[in-house]
Amino acid sequence: MAWDYIIVGAGSAGCVLAHRLSAKPGNKVLLLEGGGNDTSPLVRIPAGEIKAILNPRFNWMYISEPDPTLNGRDAMWPGGKVLGGSSSINGMIYLRGQHEDYDDWARLIGNTGAWSYRDVLPYFKRMETNPLGPSEYHGDSGPLVVSDVPTPHPLVRTFIEAAKELGIPFNPDVNGERQEGAGPHQGTIRFGRRNSTARAYLRPVMDRLNLSVETEARVDKVLFEEGRACAVVYSRGGEKREARADGEIILSAGAIASPAILLRSGIGPAADLSDFGIPVVADSPGVGRNLQEHPVAWVAGYVDISTYNTEVTAAGWVKHGLNWLLRGKGPAASPISQAVAFVRTRPEEEDRPDIQLHFTPTGYEFGPDGIKLLNRPGVTIPANVCRPKSRSRLTLRSADPNEPPRIFSKLLDDEDDVRRMVDGCKVSRGIFESAAFKPHFQGLFLPAPDVRSDDELEAYVRQYTLPAYHPVGTCKMGIDDMAVVDPELRVRGVQGLRVIDASIMPVVPSANTNAPSIMVGEKGSDLVLGG
Ligand SMILES: Cc1cc2nc3c(=O)[nH]c(=O)nc-3n(C[C@H](O)[C@H](O)[C@H](O)COP(=O)(O)OP(=O)(O)OC[C@H]3O[C@@H](n4cnc5c(N)ncnc54)[C@H](O)[C@@H]3O)c2cc1C
Repeated sequence: MAWDYIIVGAGSAGCVLAHRLSAKPGNKVLLLEGGGNDTSPLVRIPAGEIKAILNPRFNWMYISEPDPTLNGRDAMWPGGKVLGGSSSINGMIYLRGQHEDYDDWARLIGNTGAWSYRDVLPYFKRMETNPLGPSEYHGDSGPLVVSDVPTPHPLVRTFIEAAKELGIPFNPDVNGERQEGAGPHQGTIRFGRRNSTARAYLRPVMDRLNLSVETEARVDKVLFEEGRACAVVYSRGGEKREARADGEIILSAGAIASPAILLRSGIGPAADLSDFGIPVVADSPGVGRNLQEHPVAWVAGYVDISTYNTEVTAAGWVKHGLNWLLRGKGPAASPISQAVAFVRTRPEEEDRPDIQLHFTPTGYEFGPDGIKLLNRPGVTIPANVCRPKSRSRLTLRSADPNEPPRIFSKLLDDEDDVRRMVDGCKVSRGIFESAAFKPHFQGLFLPAPDVRSDDELEAYVRQYTLPAYHPVGTCKMGIDDMAVVDPELRVRGVQGLRVIDASIMPVVPSANTNAPSIMVGEKGSDLVLGG
């Protein structure tokens, strides 16, 4: 039997595609997901994120090569490995980025496709059911229910007051008319439960007779007949299988796995492919290049009132677990970040925010084993560059699909990114040192209080920066030689194959990337159905 559409990867974009493409009863759709199902409490309970991302059952746990721009440190680059993909293990922060991000995309692709902010706004609206109600910027009837943070920590208000003191205006809706400012953000949370795309888009339609979903089905490569994608080879339960498509094959395996599948299928830089003994189907120099990621560094301080890190006790689990179960409220029902600030570090030079701060009412640091909670009340204000200039890349380790790709990370390759990271840390520190925060602040934990000069902060940033878990761009859309897909997301050089996920973004949006990836899935589904 041949399917009309085979979708590879049930993540943020893949679940949207499965939902939209199978809405036409005549379309026979197969969705192949490398991970398992999403019923674990670690996935369902928002606070489970901290444990879920350390669990190889839910996370592909890619490890980068040592990064020469981060003092030779390697890092874990997580990717959801479960129905819902990264939307099932992410921080649930719901942000779209700046209007200008999409206008930049449109400019970069020569205004040949409809990807400007005006073009993509209808998809952002179509996807959401927002408690703000319908408006110029929001939708109220989409599959993805988002909500305000169920129980904001009292220091969220202090953070916003402190930001105002630093000249950062209050912004009640950072997904609305403008992004600049500080305010609460919404979360992909419904009745206190994580609302991944598996929950919002896939599960409600899984009983459609024309949709088949296979989990634990890892796709190795795409096969071609006369230049047209005709089948995928995948492994399931230790067995090799093949699924055929008459219509299209769509890769939605995320920004690390989609380019790896293309490379194993013979689409990529010819020199790389011949190194791995893979016959060239299409010489596409951009596959795996243009890897963009937000570099992020933490500023953490001790405070005088209880924060979530000190509530992880046996009594805390019972109290907060019951509150979550019965009312869908409390710390267990809340994302780790509860507010954001989008800031212009040099207002005289910048016409739009260039750094993003998150406010997390949890004191933590990252050690070799992942997130480590402080044993005193504390809050953390991570700072990241919105539009980094540094570029990383990835390629295969070998032609063997069991081997993860090699990520050549260079997160702080560009001096301008380093400057903005240093400035971002200064703004985070300024929040702690503000009059609003002073009554609660009990000293900096990270960086050490005596790390003050720009040189000291740069040394700190190079030693502590990590990826923010927003990789994009490895199969970028465009019209130049390095573009892997065209503005309709069709893989250049072959027929019948698209990439529809975070890989196609030519430039990383100035915020977290889940909502933009869902938007790409929504718009991609229209391109497939219209084409
Ligand atoms: C830990 C973490 C925290 C994050 N926090 C936030 C946040 O709070 N807010 C936000 O906006 N963004 C966040 N992000 C980023 C955001 O979730 C991603 O950008 C977005 O989910 C990417 O969507 P995607 O469809 O491109 O890929 P994914 O959602 O990663 O989906 C890819 C899917 O493909 C599957 N797959 C991979 N390889 C194969 C294969 N060979 N065969 C079959 N299936 C395969 C995967 O298992 C996965 O289900 C976070 C990401 C992570 C990992």
